Amino acid sequence: MFCEDALGMSLASSLLVEGEEAEQLFRNADKSRKENVGDTTCVHGIIEFSNHCAKNCSYCGISSSNCTLPRYRMSPAEIVDAADYAVNKLGYKMIVLQSGEDPHYTTEMLEGIVKKIKEKCKLLVFLSIGDRDYETYSRLRKAGAGGVLYRFETSNGLLFKKLRPGTSLQTRLTHLKWMRELEYMIATGSMVGLPGQTFEDLMGDIKLLGRLEAKMATFGPFIPHPATPLAGNAGGTAEMALKVIAATRMIYPKMRIPVTTALETLGGENRKKALKAGANALMVNLTPMKHRENYQIYPNKFGSKDDVVAASDSAIALVRSLGRRVCRGWGPWSAAPELAPICR
Ligand code: SAH
Ligand code: SF4
Repeated sequence: MFCEDALGMSLASSLLVEGEEAEQLFRNADKSRKENVGDTTCVHGIIEFSNHCAKNCSYCGISSSNCTLPRYRMSPAEIVDAADYAVNKLGYKMIVLQSGEDPHYTTEMLEGIVKKIKEKCKLLVFLSIGDRDYETYSRLRKAGAGGVLYRFETSNGLLFKKLRPGTSLQTRLTHLKWMRELEYMIATGSMVGLPGQTFEDLMGDIKLLGRLEAKMATFGPFIPHPATPLAGNAGGTAEMALKVIAATRMIYPKMRIPVTTALETLGGENRKKALKAGANALMVNLTPMKHRENYQIYPNKFGSKDDVVAASDSAIALVRSLGRRVCRGWGPWSAAPELAPICR
């Protein structure tokens, strides 16, 4: 456990630095990454299988209130095929299945999808499907899902309530508690630069990761979408997102920290910068091309036009160009010993 005061001090000093001091923070985080999790960088995949959403989060471009967005749903067979191709042809070992909150996919359907994928592929499945009841998450865990990518979004309860009408941070945290009880591996985090978010909120976000026993920390800049109520606001900056990543590495030396698509969207070079500032994983978009541009949680998403093979190759090439090894799985995770890293 951390001493709260010391933690607060070191976080504050990390997030406030600028210029050469920020560069030094990034170098320190890179050194810590190397010493604690080594020179292996994991390349994971994400399949965005539906852009229908029943929720109305005011930051999100696929929320129910965006009437102009063409909506799509992948069939269970399409989702299984996309995962099968990614794992058995492209070597992925960890895939996130993500969607809006879409009740079209019943618990039975999701169970069937996860089971079928697990029958065909040796991989770790992460779910990123938003709020569902305990029963659903319990059944999906039994069906073979091993992780959840479920952000708390902001540790500021008032801001949370404002941005996610009808929901509360407390409920989100209760869901994360069940997910831990169900022995899901927890990937969580927040958006950086939300309107109304303070510097203290960001410190709170980083601190919260520890209490949630997160194994993967996911932080990305908020990017305003023109068809949302937050359209006119400034977005988060790449610099602040990089500082949050570096500070997270300094505080949680063993954490898996992916470079998020939102950070890549603010400039392709941020991918490399983040890998040199504490991040140790990449997430490649494996959504079939015909649906990509409509999974528009924010505009101009990085990788929207890259074919799956080209995107995978470029992620692998970047990792190698940094002198690191590529890993596709999770590594030593006791509940999934078969998923030891496969390096190539
Ligand atoms: N519906 C699920 C998963 C899909 S949304 C859920 O909400 O949990 C995945 C993530 O996209 C969210 O957790 C949120 O942090 C991020 N997101 C949504 N809108 C965004 C925006 N405008 N800028 C940056 N990230 C955004
Ligand atoms: Fe739906 Fe998730 Fe977007 Fe909220 S963040 S509107 S739950 S897809």
